[in-house]
Amino acid sequence: MARIVMKFGGTSVADLDRIKNVARHVKREVDAGHEVAVVVSAMSGKTNELVGWVQNMPKVTGANHSIYDAREYDAVVASGEQVTSGLLAIALQAMGINARSWQGWQIPIRTDNAHGAARILEIEGAEIIRRMGEGQVAVVAGFQGLGPDNRLSTLGRGGSDTSAVAIAAAVKADRCDIYTDVDGVYTTDPRIEPKARRLKKIAFEEMLEMASLGAKVLQVRSVELAMVFKVRTFVRSSFEDPDAPGMGDLLNPPGTLICDEEEIVEQEVVTGIAYAKDEAQISLRRLADRPGVSAAIFGPLAESHINVDMIVQNISEDGSKTDMTFTVPSGDVEKALRVLGENKDKIGYDVVQNESGLVKVSVIGIGMRSHAGVAATAFQALAEKGINIKAITTSEIKISILIDGPYAELAVRTLHSCYGLDKS
Ligand code: ASP
Ligand code: MG
Repeated sequence: MARIVMKFGGTSVADLDRIKNVARHVKREVDAGHEVAVVVSAMSGKTNELVGWVQNMPKVTGANHSIYDAREYDAVVASGEQVTSGLLAIALQAMGINARSWQGWQIPIRTDNAHGAARILEIEGAEIIRRMGEGQVAVVAGFQGLGPDNRLSTLGRGGSDTSAVAIAAAVKADRCDIYTDVDGVYTTDPRIEPKARRLKKIAFEEMLEMASLGAKVLQVRSVELAMVFKVRTFVRSSFEDPDAPGMGDLLNPPGTLICDEEEIVEQEVVTGIAYAKDEAQISLRRLADRPGVSAAIFGPLAESHINVDMIVQNISEDGSKTDMTFTVPSGDVEKALRVLGENKDKIGYDVVQNESGLVKVSVIGIGMRSHAGVAATAFQALAEKGINIKAITTSEIKISILIDGPYAELAVRTLHSCYGLDKS
């Protein structure tokens, strides 16, 4: 007997039939004798609709554009999950399963005060554990919690993944199953490279890189939590027949296991290729090469909440002037240019150039730590396809390469095959 947290995303609860199907997945685990807590997202599209309503309100009221109370934003957008938690509890009860819904504030799931993007601080899991012991299934509304101000809070888009992993940690679950519309984590996006393979296992650190670098399977924060609390997390499909053979396998259910790297016996050098679209590059030309220049650039950008990613600084030829290039999401370019303009005197650059519509492709693998020549292989393969590299950054377990947007798909396929990921 095990304790399992099952999380179902928006497409898995998109309508009543699918909610009934989700109930069958839950019933399978309950019938096998496991203790089960379920975490649900809002029906797909619902959160977008709710966010849209809030954003349109100032236009209707004539109030200052885009200014609204973030606590009320949370009150509105948290409602999608309240609906699905109740509906799933009803579907389970109809199957003869003892189940009840829980809102974030009822548990409570305590968060910080950052309304709209709150972080979970603490979960009081005792009551849920007690009831699971009595055979009751907890159906928890994901994405929401209770702030220190005693108001509803939400965890940021995609946050119900984080709810699920946090609850799994809080109730000391043996496993956290993230049911979604794909059947696992792939070596790369199968829509771009049909030869992409589903991974049996991926290490927490690799998954963290994959999620941060563009793979959209899981919210980044949920992977961080899984890594810190060592929550064995499965990514699997809710669209398979709930009663197909192997679906209830306790140790090896179908899907991808995100786990400690020690659990991965046959570690490949490269595990996957991720990509992120809509990157933009900003270059400051002929900066003074002296202490404090980087601080003068990136301090104001950070204060304006602009997420800077790759940073490349040239070594200056004569020790007096240098160039600095960095990337930001395309949507932040105008804001970044404004901030840089406002600080031009303090920073002391000559001209600023920018280019949008770029793509960052990344090669990820823990095996890189102990292998030489991994980056050179990528550069050679891209060169053979005539793909120009604009910037490069590396860490112990990843290489990120910035290229022109139109080459994205070719680059992903090229990198995927140059490391043999489409074989075996
Ligand atoms: N419904 C929320 C969203 O769309 C949370 C989630 O689905 O993870 O962002
Ligand atoms: Mg999601």
